[in-house]
Amino acid sequence: MAGRNHLFVPGPTNCPHEVLSAMHVPMEDHRSPIFPNLLKPILEDLKKIFRTEAGQCFTFPATGTAGWEVALTNCLNQGDKVLIYRFGQFGHLWAEAARKLGFDVEIHQVEWGKGIPLDHLEARLKDDKNHEIKAVLATHNETSTGVTSSIPGVRKAMDNAAHPALLFVDGVSSIASIDFRMDEWGVDAAISGSQKGFMLPAGLAILCFSQKALAATESSTFPRSFFSLKDMAASNKDGYTPYTPSTPMLHGLRKALDLLLEEGIENVYARHHRLGEGVRRAVAAWGLKICAQPGFESDTVTAVVVPADKDARDVIATAYRKYNISLGAGLTEVSGKVFRIGHIGDMNDVSLLGAIAGVEMAMLDHGFDIKAGSGVGAAVEYYRSTAK
Ligand SMILES: *Cc1c(COP(=O)(O)O)cnc(C)c1O
Repeated sequence: MAGRNHLFVPGPTNCPHEVLSAMHVPMEDHRSPIFPNLLKPILEDLKKIFRTEAGQCFTFPATGTAGWEVALTNCLNQGDKVLIYRFGQFGHLWAEAARKLGFDVEIHQVEWGKGIPLDHLEARLKDDKNHEIKAVLATHNETSTGVTSSIPGVRKAMDNAAHPALLFVDGVSSIASIDFRMDEWGVDAAISGSQKGFMLPAGLAILCFSQKALAATESSTFPRSFFSLKDMAASNKDGYTPYTPSTPMLHGLRKALDLLLEEGIENVYARHHRLGEGVRRAVAAWGLKICAQPGFESDTVTAVVVPADKDARDVIATAYRKYNISLGAGLTEVSGKVFRIGHIGDMNDVSLLGAIAGVEMAMLDHGFDIKAGSGVGAAVEYYRSTAK
């Protein structure tokens, strides 16, 4: 098919041309005396994205899923109790990972479309008088439902209960796109990956740990090898890694950080908010609903609920086959009920209008009761009137 494929899945996201070019480099010696000149500033600049001064950043040659494992296996002990609210596929998978690793996982089911229930969390932690819960696992942005939870709210609930548990946050589809503050929110482990807000290919887990979490690694007896934070920290101190890093990925990350810091992290958040708001206006103009309930809307991904007599999979298939655009599918519980539009990473108004137009065409093809141009028109008005 002529023209390019338009990628609107919420990861992998589009890589900016500058990032791809920066990665197109010859292989190099990762034990050379100049390699630390690449790695050390990256680890320092990552702190500006995680918004931390006290914390320490790490990358592992892996994906976000490995980030869950790094946090769990380095800061906790075998069999420890962890608390998680499950309101989407990624929270489900994180809970499963913890279970498979042998943790005592306390799962609270939450309706998909809502986020972490803060009152419930506070009450549960107050109830845990013996402090058996060692970590609270919070999915900041549940990519499967387009739901953002309040992490400052989680911190407040933990503080109100004076509970000493560690706070682990899955920020794979929020960090570098949605407001995130490691220090201010008292996050102990923040987990991200390269292929979402960082605008890179998949292949790096990008993590940040608080001093409290790093201290916990000292007493943790959990068996670990490849994912040892201590080994990584020991090598990183001199600007090296314990095993071979993907040097092109690091060059790409260097460029991605330059782009994000040049734009300014607050401006990055504001851009994602505008992008998300335009999509929400389009959905409202179609007369459709989004999966996220009011107050939980995500600025990086929108899950659009199709009418009961329609199958979202048809929209996704037609959008791909006829119009060359890739949308995110509904996962497990919402399979066939939603399609997802990713608006994360290297994205702007006009690119996203392409997604809205393509979705409109595919929905019309499947007999949706919508008016051609209605969603596009609503988004055009919003973007035009709020553009600087
Ligand atoms: C994508 C994603 C993951 C999984 O990351 P992988 O890089 O695919 O391992 C985990 N959590 C959230 C919220 C995600 O969006």
